[in-house]
Amino acid sequence: MIVMKFGGTSVGSAEAIQQVVEIVRKYRERDLLVVLSAMSTVTDSLREMAAEACGGTEPSSSLSALRKRHDETIRALAEGEERNRALEVCEGLIDELSGILHGITLLKELSPRSVDLVSSFGERLSVVVVSAALRSAGLSSLPVDAREYVKTNERYTEAEVNFAETERRLSAGLVPMVSDGRIPIITGFIGSTDEGVTTTLGRGASDYTASLVAGAIQAEEVWIWTDVDGAMTADPRMVEDARVLKEISYLEAAEMSYFGAKVLHPMTMQPAVKQEIPIRIRNTFRTENGGTVISSRTFEAPLGVKAVTSIDRLCLIVVEGTSLSRTPDTHARLFKTTAERKTQVIMITQASSEHDICLVVDEKDSQGTVRALKKEFRHEVAEGSLEEISVQPDLAVVAVVGGGMKGTPGIAARTFGILGEHGVNIIAIAQGSSELNISFIVERNDLQKTVQLVHASFGLGEDGDFE
Ligand code: ASP
Ligand code: MG
Repeated sequence: MIVMKFGGTSVGSAEAIQQVVEIVRKYRERDLLVVLSAMSTVTDSLREMAAEACGGTEPSSSLSALRKRHDETIRALAEGEERNRALEVCEGLIDELSGILHGITLLKELSPRSVDLVSSFGERLSVVVVSAALRSAGLSSLPVDAREYVKTNERYTEAEVNFAETERRLSAGLVPMVSDGRIPIITGFIGSTDEGVTTTLGRGASDYTASLVAGAIQAEEVWIWTDVDGAMTADPRMVEDARVLKEISYLEAAEMSYFGAKVLHPMTMQPAVKQEIPIRIRNTFRTENGGTVISSRTFEAPLGVKAVTSIDRLCLIVVEGTSLSRTPDTHARLFKTTAERKTQVIMITQASSEHDICLVVDEKDSQGTVRALKKEFRHEVAEGSLEEISVQPDLAVVAVVGGGMKGTPGIAARTFGILGEHGVNIIAIAQGSSELNISFIVERNDLQKTVQLVHASFGLGEDGDFE
């Protein structure tokens, strides 16, 4: 059995869904289970509708646009009985949504719980559309509402899955459908609490649903169909000769996504990783490409490095003081402060002199975080034991990633050597002891040049078996 997940753009129009139909037809014999996102932009627009309703205005024009888009897509793809049935189901869903939005308009109140209910309609609609298209093409499929199977806690908008119960339900419910020769078309992203209240697993979480399904039914592979060719050696907008990586390990994929490459969020892979199920990333619109396989086994790149990734628009917050080494609770208080603000700390460095601690954060978090830190450490700053909490703006982090880096000497030397030769100044450096990546901070202005230089110096653009 193979679990195939199609993202928002892959189901975003009648033409795209036609591609999905062809893909499903092609791999039909392998026993498929399909997980879908909402049609592209639908989740955003549902959330906007909910917000508008909360402000007291009925979002009538957005609602009719939503109705029209699903309606027209069904008419373009399905015929006869299938078409009528799907139109009717969608109509019913939109009426239900309209009632909920009306309620929000009257109450002028929007809880995370209601946001989840409203957001759930995107996937609930897309499975009806795609299933109708498949059936009209003679492929026996049926829409499946994941809320019956994916059980979560009540942390609305980012609910946590009850794995044991979810796995049990998914395998008991879905495997018989596949054995009966049908293709379940499952809503990604959504689940429900023990009481049956609708929840969502976080934005972009359809990948997670796919991985949950795969883990539960012990699928051979998960295929994530999207609009890119796979994981790449670098961002192709920055590096002309960036290439698709044929194979990477789970760990490499995780490192790459932490550092800005749009691979798969590590959490979404977890259920598949646990069972060592390979995950394949493929392009719905370029099926001739094999994509990237992410698994526990992978080749080692000749120089140990597989990719150079980066995150732009960052700031460095520097906490400086002679007394840092003497006040062991400084770190605890520092991270308590960032945690309370929900500031994501992208990188941390501290030299062993313990004279300063550097935190790398997103530009948009920097002012607020510095304010909070100044408040937390106001006494230390007043008495002079902390000299300064300052910000350095306009930075970017670059990460050199590869499983083969572990124990391979010379990677840092090569990286920093080439940058030194070209006058790129390195502001801070970090390497986790996993040795899967070396990350460092440069000025934004140097970002593209840095990525290009490192990409070239490790020969990542060159042909060879390492694609
Ligand atoms: N439709 C949801 C979102 O936009 C889930 C997904 O696309 O994976 O966040
Ligand atoms: Mg999406």
